[in-house]
Amino acid sequence: HAKQKGKNRFQVYHPSMDIESYKLFTLEQDMRKALVNDEFILEYQPRVDTKTGKILSAEALLRWSHPEWGRVSPLEFIPVAEESGFIINIGEYVIRKVCRQLFDWKEKGLSIVPISVNISPLSFLKNSLVSMIKEALDEYHLEAELIEIELTESSLINYSENVISVLKELGSMGVKIALDDFGTGYSSITQLKNYKFDVLKIDKTFIQAMDKTAEDAIITANLIQLAHGLNMKVVAEGVETFEQFYSLRKNECDQIQGYLFSKPIPPSSFEQKLLIGSLKPQNIKEDNVFKG
Ligand code: C2E
Ligand code: MG
Ligand code: MG
Ligand code: MG
Repeated sequence: HAKQKGKNRFQVYHPSMDIESYKLFTLEQDMRKALVNDEFILEYQPRVDTKTGKILSAEALLRWSHPEWGRVSPLEFIPVAEESGFIINIGEYVIRKVCRQLFDWKEKGLSIVPISVNISPLSFLKNSLVSMIKEALDEYHLEAELIEIELTESSLINYSENVISVLKELGSMGVKIALDDFGTGYSSITQLKNYKFDVLKIDKTFIQAMDKTAEDAIITANLIQLAHGLNMKVVAEGVETFEQFYSLRKNECDQIQGYLFSKPIPPSSFEQKLLIGSLKPQNIKEDNVFKG
């Protein structure tokens, strides 16, 4: 029923106010309360081995359950948080929560996998990012290899020198770095020379057009080759169809992340998947997709 409420949600409180400005204004204030009141939660979306379906890692994705509005998408609140700088607090919250979660899973005897976390470029401008991550890892007795940072490519353009030096520090600690949403920003290829990323995540706009246009299929196939030539692992984002999956497998893409295998899911559901250890495409009739 969140949807029902959602329809008039802003008018209820401020009938005279323009919806967009009211939203921005309250979003900002409510986000600060949300951290204290524990309204943010993390979901985990598995990344599987293209050849076997084995769960190799997962991406932590932030969700906000607002007391009056219901679920607010990160696409709505992350940009607002970036504008105000509050994204730095969110970044710390997510890192700590993920480390805590990994610790809890380890305590339960689960075989844990590395978790990737989206970190805003703004956090990279703060001197304390490296020490914050180090402290969180230490507190929960975790190896740095269990955390991967996902950075969006556009961020490298604006803050290049600072960002690169922080990346190098994190990299030498053992934290893996992924270049997120590859292909959607500017001068993509140039960025690959500035830092030796561990992982390249091909944006879903390419993946989802692969089975529609020949150009997208060719671009994707060649991006995979390019990344492999530079010693990076490749993750395809937003894989929804068998056609996309088969074609990515044919082109030796390393990992698949997308609704075809799993949506982002709450920790308890992810735990169940970890126990099994591997996934199959959903709603599939054939049993042996990974044998052919
Ligand atoms: P992203 O980092 O590129 O994350 C992948 C997005 O693609 C997620 O959207 C995920 O739910 C969605 N996705 C995955 N598989 C599929 C699929 O098969 N089909 C479709 N249509 N979508 C798929 P989500 O969770 O809405 O997050 C959106 C963006 O918000 C993220 O994009 C990321 O940029 C940002 N974000 C999310 N959580 C955080 C966070 O904790 N910190 C920061 N700084 N940004 C975050
Ligand atoms: Mg990401
Ligand atoms: Mg992405
Ligand atoms: Mg993104």
